[in-house]
Amino acid sequence: MSSTIDLHCHTTASDGKLSPQALITKAQERNITTLAITDHDTLAGFREAQAPASEAGINLISGIELSTVWAGINVHIVGLNLDPNHPVILEAEAYQKKVRIERADIIAERLGKRLKHDIDMDEIRSYTQDGQIGRPHFAQYLLKYELIGSFAEAFNKYLGAGKIGDVKSGWPDIPTAVKWIIEAGGVAVFAHGHRYKMTRTKLRSCVQEFVYAGGRAIEVAYGTMDSSQQQHMVALAKEFNLKGSCGSDYHGPNRFGLELGTMAKFPEGITPVWETF
Ligand code: AMP
Ligand code: MN
Ligand code: MN
Ligand code: MN
Repeated sequence: MSSTIDLHCHTTASDGKLSPQALITKAQERNITTLAITDHDTLAGFREAQAPASEAGINLISGIELSTVWAGINVHIVGLNLDPNHPVILEAEAYQKKVRIERADIIAERLGKRLKHDIDMDEIRSYTQDGQIGRPHFAQYLLKYELIGSFAEAFNKYLGAGKIGDVKSGWPDIPTAVKWIIEAGGVAVFAHGHRYKMTRTKLRSCVQEFVYAGGRAIEVAYGTMDSSQQQHMVALAKEFNLKGSCGSDYHGPNRFGLELGTMAKFPEGITPVWETF
């Protein structure tokens, strides 16, 4: 299902495949009128896309997808419509970048030992911009050197939740990330709740902590989400009086086989978070 609003996607500033400029061109082709770029832990892609977006007549909303850890699980909190120059968010970006750089060395060491391969960090850094190294860049490297057979295998065997390369040390907790977003004037969105491998009870406690911290929205329409997953997210939205957000989580051509702007239909009875943007 196609929508004209997409509030979750990535560029080369994090682990996306399209440059900010190319993403705006893609958004134009896809008739997207309101777009939020939500790169992992950086607003660099958003900043670069501002001029091309205004030229293309696209309402570009500032966004960031912050990495956090909750009960040993990597949880993503999206910040939307925040001041990209607020000192708190500038500091948050610097903090997250430092965590990413230090974490990458730990991942490299662990993978290197396991695979008996001396991982060339300079090469992995060359896949990234400004130190924004993520696990997908390791997957790209493992694939190139045929240490694994596919991108999915890299996550299933080495990089996914609970595997050797799933290093979470350093990430902030949920209240810290929510506080950064609120102080920068934005709204905090609980990202892709259906994708965490949590029981319903655990996910509810996690959302509850997010709400206590000041979180006000949850993704209720997402790129890959079936109707029972959507019903679950809608139930959480209703229980905690959260607004709904929608996004494809587009990372570029062929990634998960979906397009920019492609997502489940926005559910009835939920207030859209973008109403006030
Ligand atoms: P990081 O930012 O380093 O924690 O890496 C997380 C990113 O890896 C996510 O944003 C996804 O883009 C990607 N990812 C996570 N799990 C998978 C998976 N099972 N298959 C492919 N990509 C994944
Ligand atoms: Mn990603
Ligand atoms: Mn995410
Ligand atoms: Mn994302």
